[in-house]
Amino acid sequence: MEIKELICVNCPMGCRIHVTMDGRTVVKTEGNTCSKGKVYAEQECVRPMRILTSTVRIIGAAERVLPVITKDAIPLDMMDTAMKEIRRVRIDAPVKVDQVIIQDLAGTGVSLIASRSMNPAS
Ligand code: SF4
Repeated sequence: MEIKELICVNCPMGCRIHVTMDGRTVVKTEGNTCSKGKVYAEQECVRPMRILTSTVRIIGAAERVLPVITKDAIPLDMMDTAMKEIRRVRIDAPVKVDQVIIQDLAGTGVSLIASRSMNPAS
């Protein structure tokens, strides 16, 4: 058995949570004040998830790159694969904020969307 200690980042209380693991299985979770902390800590121990922010090349806009973000968190262990897919993207202006740039990024089921709008260069 292994006990992992985490600080919950979901609210300013910053509860110190202890998760007892048997391999990749959660046995016990203690120290969380609410259920949100339990879900966070167990996910973090079993398969951490993160929002990914990056940029893709945009063609025909005043700027060379478009900021993008995943619509939801994706597994941390999928970041390299996701970045390889993102680096291959070329998109034409105009682009609207929240426009889907890649559907099902790296097979995660999560979309990559534009973080801002970009018009064609005038
Ligand atoms: S466990 Fe709940 S109360 Fe504690 S930091 Fe996390 S979200 Fe806040």
